[in-house]
Amino acid sequence: IEKLKDNILLKKNQLLASRNWANTDFPWSRKVKEILKSIFKLDGFRQLQLETINATLSNEDVILIMPTGGGKSLCYQLPALVKPGMSIVVSPLVSLMEDQLMALKALNVNAKMLSATSTKEEVNEIQNDMVNKNGRLKLLYVTPEKLAKSKRFMTKLQKMYGLGRLSLIAIDEVHCCSQWGHDFRPDYKFLGVLKAMFPDVPMLGLTATSTSKITIDVQKMLSIQGCLVFRASFNRPNLYYEVRIKSSNQEECLQELVNLLKTRYKGQSGIIYTTSIKDCEQLMVDLRNKDLRIGCYHANLDPELRSKVHNKWLTGEYQAVVATIAFGLGIDKPDVRFVIHHSLSKSMENFYQESGRAGRDNKKAECIVLYRLADVFKLSTMVFTQQTGLQNLYNIVAYCLDQVRCRRTIIASYFDEAWDSQNCNAMCDNCRRPREKKEVNVTQYCRSMYQLISNAAGNDVKLTAQKLIDAWYGKGAGNLRVKSVPIPTFPRETGESVIAHLLVEGYLQEDFHFTPYSTISYLKRGPKAAAALSDEHRIVMNISGKAVPPGNSLSHNVSSDKKESPSHGTEKTNDASRKNLSDSSNKTNSS
Ligand code: ADP
Ligand code: MG
Ligand code: ZN
Repeated sequence: IEKLKDNILLKKNQLLASRNWANTDFPWSRKVKEILKSIFKLDGFRQLQLETINATLSNEDVILIMPTGGGKSLCYQLPALVKPGMSIVVSPLVSLMEDQLMALKALNVNAKMLSATSTKEEVNEIQNDMVNKNGRLKLLYVTPEKLAKSKRFMTKLQKMYGLGRLSLIAIDEVHCCSQWGHDFRPDYKFLGVLKAMFPDVPMLGLTATSTSKITIDVQKMLSIQGCLVFRASFNRPNLYYEVRIKSSNQEECLQELVNLLKTRYKGQSGIIYTTSIKDCEQLMVDLRNKDLRIGCYHANLDPELRSKVHNKWLTGEYQAVVATIAFGLGIDKPDVRFVIHHSLSKSMENFYQESGRAGRDNKKAECIVLYRLADVFKLSTMVFTQQTGLQNLYNIVAYCLDQVRCRRTIIASYFDEAWDSQNCNAMCDNCRRPREKKEVNVTQYCRSMYQLISNAAGNDVKLTAQKLIDAWYGKGAGNLRVKSVPIPTFPRETGESVIAHLLVEGYLQEDFHFTPYSTISYLKRGPKAAAALSDEHRIVMNISGKAVPPGNSLSHNVSSDKKESPSHGTEKTNDASRKNLSDSSNKTNSS
């Protein structure tokens, strides 16, 4: 019987999937188009939005998997306005709901939210509206806790359903239902009762990341097995991806940015992302001193100034804004030609979303990361207290370190999408300059790091990455150097990459210490240390072939020729590598 059930579900799913959901001759098609223009002020749909909206309005249950920033919200907001009655949106975070409510308010859409902090009056007003035939509220955002814990609310919901006023149940971040997901939330389990309680109401689950295993699990949890699954491709064919190692010398680094803005991006509009508010303001001042028209944007600006900056950027008075991630909400400028990450993103997800603001007009645009190991510690000291904070950060570090794989392949694998790098069309640095892949055995360097760390510990000193590299390169305090650890013949920049690789792979790990004013990241042996010390173990790092001159013994030299050292696929020379790595690991940032 189970098998038969599975077969029926499969058939149902195939039949559903074979329908053309992008048709424009559904009974509601005209209304959909009209609301898109008049209320949402948008000209057209993005990938899979129309399909999802049509399926939802056909009362089908749908799971939509679409990268962050792709436009998932519209897929329930628009049907909510087409249908009579009220739609419920389950969302895990109050801050996410507040963002949406603000945007909807600006569009004059009647939407509210219920959370643990709602006042009694608000709650009463909303609950009255739910069961009022003439109620005007179109969208109600609730946390899963609210659903799970408030019997009174569930009673109202049932009553509303009885009156035929419950039009849609949208579940944002639906992967939270699954134990296989990266942020399973126990309260999402309760959502499993909704289908049985409200069988006639279409359910729409939305998420940015879902493997097929998670999707199946989610369907089971929500009792919507065999439902339609729409999966949008992460790929943005018009975006060019590049990673550059930035100079550790601040003035050189600034000059590189100035050159980009004055030549490659002359007359074009863009965004420059930084990590902290302090960096953000400083960079604006520095760029203005170089005669560039630049604004800055972060969470500490008062709203009036923020919208002023935003406007100057929209109208082109500013060529670019230097921004923290606070700059994102409602950014729909179509002709953003470049997004430069002056410092790392917090995660692949963040990077995808931030860089994705480029080229919304589908014309060519560029996404450049200026990477330096020191930036990793600026961020790690900010995110290490979050559950998956460090892992997320190391994922984007791995993206930056990779000199071989197509950038799109790396992004795709993160989003669990199969990708053939042939389809990149040389729209990333690694595909543009394809180079032979070389495997370098870095095991001995790992052991050298352990020696340096142990030696320091013997002297009662903990090593930041900066100090570790100094000791490795024979610089800094004499008692931190170890005779039996040879000074590398390759540039410091390469040494940094080796350390970053060891960190990302778990051979090293960060050790965080609080001081009254900051958090410091020291390096210590990682969870894979025992493996690294066993005889047969090899730690392999992929670098581009160009970096390894022929005839070199791979196990002894990553590169002996400074001019030919790995440059992460950029044209930059490695002058930077001879300069000192600026240590920012001991500063606390507030963004
Ligand atoms: P997601 O939930 O997938 O991360 P959002 O729904 O928050 O994405 O949308 C991201 C941004 O894209 C929003 O600023 C939104 O206004 C914009 N957007 C959504 N759909 C469209 C569209 N069809 N045309 C232009 N902009 C859109
Ligand atoms: Mg969203
Ligand atoms: Zn590529």
